[in-house]
Amino acid sequence: MRGTNVPLILVTNDDGVRSPGLCALADALREVGEVLIVAPDREQSAASHALTLQRPLRLEQVAPGTWAVDGTPSDAVYLGINAVLKGRRPDLIASGINLGANLGDDITYSGTVAAAMEGTLLGAPAFAISMAARRDFHFETACGFAARLARSILAHGLPKMALLNVNVPNVPPSPEVPYRVTFQGKRRYTDAVIDRTDPRGRTYYWIGGDELGFDAVEGSDAVTVLRDRMISVTPVHLDLTHVRLLDQIAAWSI
Ligand code: MN
Repeated sequence: MRGTNVPLILVTNDDGVRSPGLCALADALREVGEVLIVAPDREQSAASHALTLQRPLRLEQVAPGTWAVDGTPSDAVYLGINAVLKGRRPDLIASGINLGANLGDDITYSGTVAAAMEGTLLGAPAFAISMAARRDFHFETACGFAARLARSILAHGLPKMALLNVNVPNVPPSPEVPYRVTFQGKRRYTDAVIDRTDPRGRTYYWIGGDELGFDAVEGSDAVTVLRDRMISVTPVHLDLTHVRLLDQIAAWSI
């Protein structure tokens, strides 16, 4: 879509500019607006909200309307707005489709969600979208919902400091997959540490455990996607203050 009243949508991710999830999301959102892709040049999963401040960054145009950044998802959004768009705010930022869920605690590690956070901080409404699967992705389910959600956000707007974190079960789009507005739940992982010895006799480690399950809290993101096989839409606030603890901590007289 092109024209002066056509919304501009910045699409990014944390799986890298060649991810099939990114391509699927961009294609879906071309039905809604003009799409600009600015994404990391390689996988940056679990990069969280990191910015690259200790070395220079390079932007490379890899296709029409598509730019790769040799940095993090937040670098990509920052450069997308401040370099590619020369400070113009896009009407919407969409991050994903991530190849894996971002439920519960995952939000604090997720580069996918952090890219949406960076967009929010830079003044553009944003959503992150992830698929709860590791292979054989039904992207069409997430794509259909992403286009509907994009239209809704463009129509309603989002408050400052707020974004939407969307997770989609890996099921076919027909019959239509229902959605639920949810709160952040709790996933469980093993605290695995695998140690090995390198060819020079030194120990090295792989961290990051396997998924054990999730807490069965009704209305949470994890229950909605992993048990009920529904789409989860979680409003996320960037103000991390624990409001209910303010008085309690003040009473400590530290
Ligand atoms: Mn990822």
